[in-house]
Amino acid sequence: MADIGVDAKMMVEKCRRAFDEGKTRSYEARIQHLQNLLRMIAENKKAFVDAMYKDLRKPEFESVTFEVDFGYNECILAINELQQWMKPEKVAIPMAGVGKQCFINRDPLGLVLIIGAWNYPFQLPIHPLIGAIAAGNTAIIKPSEVSPATAQLFEELFPKYMDTSCFQLVTGDAVVTTALLEQRFDHIFFTGSTSIGKIVQMAAAKHLTPVTLELGGKCPFYIDSNCDIDVAVHRVASSKFYNAGQTCIAPDFIICRKDQTDRVVSCLRKAVKEFFGENPKNSRDYGRVVNARHFKRICALLDGQEIEIGGESDEDDLYIAPTVIINAKDTDGIMQEEIFGPLLPIFNLETPEEAIRFINSREKPLALYVFSSNMRVIDQFRNQTSSGMFCGNECMVQGGVETLPFGGIGHSGTGNYHGKFTFETFSHRKACMVDPMYTVSELARRVFYAPYTDRKTAIISWILRKKPKNRTMSFFFQVTGLVVLLAVLYKVIHWVKGCMRK
Ligand code: NAD
Repeated sequence: MADIGVDAKMMVEKCRRAFDEGKTRSYEARIQHLQNLLRMIAENKKAFVDAMYKDLRKPEFESVTFEVDFGYNECILAINELQQWMKPEKVAIPMAGVGKQCFINRDPLGLVLIIGAWNYPFQLPIHPLIGAIAAGNTAIIKPSEVSPATAQLFEELFPKYMDTSCFQLVTGDAVVTTALLEQRFDHIFFTGSTSIGKIVQMAAAKHLTPVTLELGGKCPFYIDSNCDIDVAVHRVASSKFYNAGQTCIAPDFIICRKDQTDRVVSCLRKAVKEFFGENPKNSRDYGRVVNARHFKRICALLDGQEIEIGGESDEDDLYIAPTVIINAKDTDGIMQEEIFGPLLPIFNLETPEEAIRFINSREKPLALYVFSSNMRVIDQFRNQTSSGMFCGNECMVQGGVETLPFGGIGHSGTGNYHGKFTFETFSHRKACMVDPMYTVSELARRVFYAPYTDRKTAIISWILRKKPKNRTMSFFFQVTGLVVLLAVLYKVIHWVKGCMRK
């Protein structure tokens, strides 16, 4: 960009104009834009898989399942369900609305900005875009510069498939993002680190722009003493070392009792060997760290740590072996900052209560994983902790379930998406009331007009007052109703039988 500020302003003006002209608003327009996006995904699947291999040495399995196919399926879901999603939602009508139609309209927000991160370079810009289009918005999309091959492919393909008067894709680093953030948007959807999330929220506040922040953090993985450790460890290892640990919902560290550590380590050793062979460096199923900056950052976290498995690294290849650390301390860097790499520290705590206190003393995680054969322990963690997402005896799979909202809380984010939730994120729920028989209802409406009298106040207050629900009474009425119904039914059957005998 020659003058980034001017270009950002022009892009915003162009997309705003398209929105004002209604180019994205109707059902037909939304479907058309979604079909264009779907075609871009379907016709370039291999190119995207190759680009992600260049960026992260992402194994084809991971690129296909959790990136390209995932995006394709979200797009199909939006196309299939859009008519239903767009329907005005009827609501119950309380006293104040009697005789009127009350419903919720999902309105597009306008022009939205989508800023992506590099670890899932395809999925992270595409998923929000699908929801933004489905909800009838125009959008500017900024993929991460840290995954340049995927960003460049997007840049090439976008104008070929998408209507660029409505959807602009721009590549670049923090300078470009800063220029974009100076403009006014109707919503900003950001995926990235908590520290940059704060910058985005501050920039948005200047224009009172609402934000969705999909951030990171440290996701704990608790292994209870009453648990099949082998199963728990297979799930933690496959999740942690997926994409070389660079997944926002990956388990960051394990919590278990000290006397369980040896067993956990030996199961981890077995699982790593099963997944990636004797030397994970030679495995085509094991990815790489994204760049030298992150390589150095991750290796620095190993300083002074007790390494039980792995620990090998090769800067030229950006390779860090699947690594397990024992006796991690709360104050160590590895237990303080989000690891976002293939290092798995084991932190010892003796009871579920201690673990809950520990989790609650830290920032709220994006996800919390608890493994136990005792469902009461799982419920205990679920009810006594706060996290964006929670899994009992499962790990990371929740991120692929479109009927579950994906998002954080507190420092791990605000808002959520996936499936219909993405459509909701980019829609305004407009409260609507329409009175089709306003001349008839006028008689009742007049009661609310001035002059007010004490009598009027008393009557209206009595009519509108909500009564507390008496659960015992309502149960009593339900049972009585059922008895009466059965009695009537008995009488009817008796009467019919009598008639037939005659
Ligand atoms: P990042 O915050 O460094 O970058 C994210 C985006 O912000 C990039 O597009 C980048 O260009 C832009 N950016 C960078 N510096 C900026 C600045 N000063 N001003 C404005 N914009 C700026 O994050 P990252 O390294 O790309 O991604 C890793 C982080 O993202 C991890 O913390 C991870 O947990 C988190 N993440 C979260 C989710 C989620 O869904 N919650 C998903 C993936 C990654």
